Amino acid sequence: MQIQNHLLTGDSIRLVESPNRGGKFKARLPDAIIIHYTAGADAASSIRSLCNPQSKASAHLLVARDGQITQLVPFDTAAWHAGKSSYGGREGYNNYSIGIEIDNAGLLTKTGESYQSWFGRNYSADQVITAVHRNEKNAHYWHVYSEAQIAAVEDICSLLIDKYGIKQILGHEEISPGRKVDPGPAFPLDKLRDRLLNQSRNEDGPAEEPLLEKGTVVADTLNIRIGPSSTAAVVALPLKKDTSVTILQEKDGWYEVAVEVKGWVSAKYVSPL
Ligand SMILES: [Zn+2]
Repeated sequence: MQIQNHLLTGDSIRLVESPNRGGKFKARLPDAIIIHYTAGADAASSIRSLCNPQSKASAHLLVARDGQITQLVPFDTAAWHAGKSSYGGREGYNNYSIGIEIDNAGLLTKTGESYQSWFGRNYSADQVITAVHRNEKNAHYWHVYSEAQIAAVEDICSLLIDKYGIKQILGHEEISPGRKVDPGPAFPLDKLRDRLLNQSRNEDGPAEEPLLEKGTVVADTLNIRIGPSSTAAVVALPLKKDTSVTILQEKDGWYEVAVEVKGWVSAKYVSPL
């Protein structure tokens, strides 16, 4: 598989051009990939819908259950897959991203022993996983992806990263939370990102960043201890008023600070700058 003139070429690739498209991407774009499921019955019906002008929807690629890939829009042109969307301060991801649709029925409901899609098809238990969506609290039933689809999506992403300098791989559920749940928990999105970009969504967040703040001692003297407790042994002479410290972490009203030594001080007596 290769990319030539913004089109995939190779054995299991077809080109079916969709009229549903915007303009050419600006310079240095696209730099993101958005993963979707079709919530459709099969690849053929989803391709028809994504090429129907009335649907006003498209994607760059669609990956069938057997791993066959259909390209609908060239990679230098915006497709209409993201809709109202925002992430990391950016809005309208159609202008930044390549959209990959994967043939999958999506969210299923259990009726007796079988699982039913919104369009009324039944799926057997081996086609279903029970899992909690990243944006939700309770478990639901989801149609599984085939191994061929997961492998094809990984190959495609890897090629696109090399060709376009892709920096983000996101789910539609992450750029349109509350409105969209695709690709859902049946798709190994976090693993894919870890392998290809060495970056998981959580690493972007402030929670993972070390607290490295400066502070000043405001008590006349302040004991510095081996642990976050007033009964923990002291590690050095007390810190004097106006001593400048680096705050490493906070726990239960105590700061671990670094001066010439490291230790714990009561957070009450340190004023962060
Ligand atoms: Zn979607």
